[in-house]
Amino acid sequence: MTYLHEHVPAWTQPRISLTHVPTPLQEAPTLAADLGVGRLFIKRDDQTAQPYGGNKVRKLEWLLADAQRQGARTVITFGAAGSNHALATAIYARRLGMHPMAMLVPQPAEPVVRANLLRHLGEGTELHYFENKMELKEGLRAAMARSEARDGAAPYVIPAGGSAPLGMLGYVNAALELTAQCRAMNMPMPDRLYTACGTMGTAVGLALGLALAGAPTCVEAVRVTEEEHANRDRGRALFDETARLLLARETDMPMPRFPEDTFTLRHDFFGDGYGIHTRADEEAAGYFEAHAGAALECTYTAKAFRALMADAERGHLRGETVVFWDTYSAHAPAVEGADFHRLPEVLWSYFRP
Ligand SMILES: *Cc1c(COP(=O)(O)O)cnc(C)c1O
Repeated sequence: MTYLHEHVPAWTQPRISLTHVPTPLQEAPTLAADLGVGRLFIKRDDQTAQPYGGNKVRKLEWLLADAQRQGARTVITFGAAGSNHALATAIYARRLGMHPMAMLVPQPAEPVVRANLLRHLGEGTELHYFENKMELKEGLRAAMARSEARDGAAPYVIPAGGSAPLGMLGYVNAALELTAQCRAMNMPMPDRLYTACGTMGTAVGLALGLALAGAPTCVEAVRVTEEEHANRDRGRALFDETARLLLARETDMPMPRFPEDTFTLRHDFFGDGYGIHTRADEEAAGYFEAHAGAALECTYTAKAFRALMADAERGHLRGETVVFWDTYSAHAPAVEGADFHRLPEVLWSYFRP
């Protein structure tokens, strides 16, 4: 039983339980005092699951259940070379007996990228790598045909980041989980929450859950990808599609509207491109780790935390209760002993100095 089922009784879509939820909502008083935030909480979605956590697992609970229901034997998804989503999908698809296939595109070479590529070796992910969109389109068509011929069933295709309406329900549910936690702790809903925003499913799913709960919480969605992937129109469209999916059979629940006034896309922390990190990101990650005891990385979470730090520095958060949503997995399969030469040769360049 999820909060979603409680909230929307007519919702009957199956879910496979992969997470240990609720994740802790941890108060960080030292950090709050140091930064000048009224009260600061960290939503520990770094601990959603083992052997791999972070935000993608909440989405996969719905997506992989749908894949199984449709009888798929192969799951195809997309991401940059070091994609946490492609890795999470591979790990949990494999656990459920399905064949994972990842269609990857270039990103700057970083240690986290190399580590995730090596982790795919342990999952036996079928990796394909494309230099541009045309190649990717062609490659996908061919891969779908191949897997259908092999499996005798259509592959299940998950968009980048798992940000299909069905996957986003994971974050609608997560917002309702936060609501229940605040109620249990006898505190009002937070004034503001900060999350990294890549393919938007996390931020927009949270916004929809907050709307369903009637919570006034502002969502600060810190953009870490090109605007083509994270923009307001796409946010609105994802919000509406997800609301329609969820409430399709609820005849007397009003359709929630995109919260124009309480959803903010923050553009100032993106820097020079996806996966390119700055000195400021590293410093923010180091500061967070020292004070909060959890690790951030520089592609997503450190940038989101920098937005919170900047707002606090301007004195905007002094009287507010704020949640920082930690979306980065604290756990990951080991990579020791994995040999990059077992990856497709087109990926070897990530391992050369
Ligand atoms: C994918 C990812 C995000 C972004 O989530 P979206 O739902 O794609 O916006 C944030 N943080 C981490 C660590 C991620 O891997």
